[in-house]
Formats: sequence, structure tokens, C-alpha cells
Amino acid sequence: HTKSALQKKVTYGGRHAVTMLPGGGIGPELMGYVREIFRYCGAPIDFEVIDIDPSTEGNDDLDYAITSIKRNGVALKGNIETKSQTLSEVSRNLDLYVNVVHCKSYPGIPARHHDIDVVLIRQNTDGEYAMLEHESVPGIVESMKVVTVDNAERVARYAFEYARQNNRKKANIMKLSDGLFLEVANRVHKDYPELEHNNMIIDNTCMQSVSNPHQFDVMNMTNLYGTIVSNVLCGLMGGAGLISGRNYGDHYAIFEPGTRNTGTAIAGKNIANPVAMISASIDMLNHLGHKEHANVIQEAVYQTIVNDAIRTPDIGGNHSSTDVVENILKILSAKRVNW
Ligand code: ADP
Ligand code: MG
Repeated sequence: HTKSALQKKVTYGGRHAVTMLPGGGIGPELMGYVREIFRYCGAPIDFEVIDIDPSTEGNDDLDYAITSIKRNGVALKGNIETKSQTLSEVSRNLDLYVNVVHCKSYPGIPARHHDIDVVLIRQNTDGEYAMLEHESVPGIVESMKVVTVDNAERVARYAFEYARQNNRKKANIMKLSDGLFLEVANRVHKDYPELEHNNMIIDNTCMQSVSNPHQFDVMNMTNLYGTIVSNVLCGLMGGAGLISGRNYGDHYAIFEPGTRNTGTAIAGKNIANPVAMISASIDMLNHLGHKEHANVIQEAVYQTIVNDAIRTPDIGGNHSSTDVVENILKILSAKRVNW
């Protein structure tokens, strides 16, 4: 991440403090797996766990969570469904203006499309999620969609910078309609003349994503479009349980499963795919500079689902969540180096 120098990271005796928001549904069990894996390989992370009660009307839990993230700088989170729009509130409160979901296929996993490698970069604080809704006259609700020059510029710059730094030089940066957002991206593109750049309308993008996702490389999108397209792509390459997502601002970072599901219906059944949340925890380790721990866990995950084919039902297997985690731990113990 280009601005990581500004981003807050709190250490105590070489260990990082990280806020953990398990959320609802499968969140708590997935967090349990992450803690087990971290403990097992001695990842130098101390979690500050904050449970947000979705049934409360007030915002006390949420305020506490935000205070904790402001203190620690970094969080790992599940999804939380409350009466208010918790998630977007946290993003906006911490100014996490960009969401990055790298949709990269795992070989051999049953999927509609294989060999997908698309980076979705999405504006995370403007848009329809501003929740600016009002009933102007009885029976008519107006809902506002907000695009600001500053946020459009920050996300466009992030997307071009990402493409440049990750050697996606032949990349088309896709962006979707919406006059101002497009105009700003065209302007920012002038600073990145080596990159190819074009735009596509959201409806066509959905169709193209399903029929030929391989044409896309880096996509720059507004908030709601980004959610839709990332869910489409994740579905095409193996579902909600595989891919992680990262949220960045200038000061804080939050890591989470990419499609932001709660998985309420599968909670407590030992069938949830733990890979997306473990991948989010790997992203977090990388962000904090713990590359060795990140790499060794990543290799163990890959070997488990690709080579050993220990897979949960959502990706065509018949293994439990704990089978997957135990296999990861087994690989970690065989590789045990001097962490
Ligand atoms: P729910 O209605 O259960 O809350 P979500 O909207 O949260 O469902 O999730 C969408 C779909 O993705 C559901 O079918 C859910 O079971 C599936 N899903 C989400 N996360 C996972 C996961 N980690 N492993 C397996 N399936 C998942
Ligand atoms: Mg749900």
C-alpha cells in the first residue's frame, strides 16, 4: 500500500496490537481458527477482541470498536449486521476510502471460470452507502448517491499506483460510468501514461464479468458497483469462502473476507470455509511486516486446498472447517522453523 508509512501500527515489545471484530454468523468460529493458527506459529500479534451486539439500538459497542481501531491502527473483522449500517459507518468514520479485493483463482477448485486474476479497487466511503435516504412526500423515497472529487481522485490514484507497482502495465483500468468519477480518473491517468485505460458501463461489465472475466485486470469502481462486481467474480471463481478484502485509508487498515458475508445460515455447523478469513489474517500480517509468518501460512493454506484437496462443501469438498484448519496446522508443524 502506497501510504503505509503514514498508517498507524502499534507495537509492544515487538508484538503488534490488532483489533479483532468477530461480528455475527460464522465470524466468531473463523476468528477462533485464525487465533489457533497464529498461536501455533507464534505470530507476534495480540488481539483486542470487541464483540458488537447486533441487537442493541445504541452505538456504544461501535464507538468502542472505532476507538480501539484508532488506537491500534489495524483490525481484522468479520461481518456485522445491525439495525444501523455498521460497516459503512466504520469505514467512513476511519476514512477507509479504498477497498481492494484480489480475485485470483486457485487451481483445481471447482468453479465456473478458472485462471481469474482481477484486482477490484473500489471507493469505500462515498456512493449509495452514504444512507442519505428520505421520504420527500408520502410514498416516494429519494436515495442519494454521492461522488466527491477528493475521494474519486484518491481511489483513482490508488488504482493506477497499484497497477504500476504490481507490474500490471498492460492493464486496462476499468471504471464505470458516473460522470465525475470518470472525469477524475481520466485526469489522474495523465500521471500514468504507460498504463492502458478505458471504461465500461456497469450493466455491460456484469455481463462481461460472467462471459469473459479474463479481459479484466485492475478495475476502479464506485462503492455499490464494486460490491456487485466483486461478488460476481468471487462467485465465478469459487464462492464467498475463498477471497479476502482489504480496506485502507491514510491512517488505518481493516482486513476481512472479501464478500462481507455473515454466513448466518451455516454458523455453528463446522462447514464454513475458513480460507477467506485466514487469507485476511495473512494480508494483515503482510501489512504489519510479518512476511515470514504470512508466507508460511499462505503456503499451508494453498497446499491444503489445492494439493491435499482438503476442502469444505462450498468448494466441492466434503471436509469440515476443522479438517481444513487441522491440515494447515499439520503442514505448519512439519515446516516449523525458528519463528
Ligand atoms: P446468510 O444469509 O447465511 O447470512 P450470506 O449473505 O452471509 O448468507 O452469505 C451468502 C452465501 O455465501 C451463503 O450461501 C453463505 O452460506 C455463503 N458463504 C458465506 N461465507 C462462507 C464461507 N466462509 N464458507 C462457505 N460459504 C459461505
Ligand atoms: Mg448474511
